Amino acid sequence: MTALEIHQFICRSDNFCVLLHDPEHGVTAAIDAPDAAAIRRKLDAMGLTLTHLFITHHHHDHTGGNLALKQETGCKIIGAAADRERIPGLDETVREGDTFRFGSQPVKVLETPGHTRGHLSYWLPDAQLVFTGDTLFSLGCGRLFEGTAEQMFHSLQKLAALPPETQIYCGHEYTLNNGEFAIEIDPDNAALRERLENVKALRRARQPTLPVPLSLELMTNPFLRTDNAQIQAALGLTGASPVAVFAELRRRKDHF
Ligand SMILES: [Zn+2]
Repeated sequence: MTALEIHQFICRSDNFCVLLHDPEHGVTAAIDAPDAAAIRRKLDAMGLTLTHLFITHHHHDHTGGNLALKQETGCKIIGAAADRERIPGLDETVREGDTFRFGSQPVKVLETPGHTRGHLSYWLPDAQLVFTGDTLFSLGCGRLFEGTAEQMFHSLQKLAALPPETQIYCGHEYTLNNGEFAIEIDPDNAALRERLENVKALRRARQPTLPVPLSLELMTNPFLRTDNAQIQAALGLTGASPVAVFAELRRRKDHF
């Protein structure tokens, strides 16, 4: 059972922001700061004061609100040691294997490079949550801006190895587009078809498609299924290495 309250909302056009509130300890974190004004409005509406910002990566649509929020609230900004120079207002640097406390919860730091070289994911094992930023999306993954296919593949494998009941929160509402790509590659996957229908219904109702349990992603996300014979065959890569299958999937998605 989690003692955390979770508030997820969209800002900018398709960025997710999530507020985590631990009422017992009176702490509130935002995962990334896409838009200070939108986060401020949400905090005000909930009657919360921001105490922490957990930054997944340096891109402006994840850090653009850092300095304004820090100035207004004095929140502590936590991010990758590797991105010390690129994350505005960084107070505390963390790296692979670090665990820090947020209220009642341990937070484990996972380095998940590929989209950027300093990308982090934050795993809250007791609350069964993971925040994957622009590394793992529902039914997809982030583009390779600074890393190699091999790095991203290993980052995704690290996330895939978390407990299957873990709820995934990510950086963007890209699930419908990702699902339309996935179904072309993996058309006979019944779990994927069902997820895609569900995603379409959610989007029609203007509802978010996240969070999603890792167990469902493992059945439906082609980027986590590179050892699947049907996916390999669809790409003309039967028997190829999982990294080669991943790289081809990513290349095709870039042009989808
Ligand atoms: Zn990004």
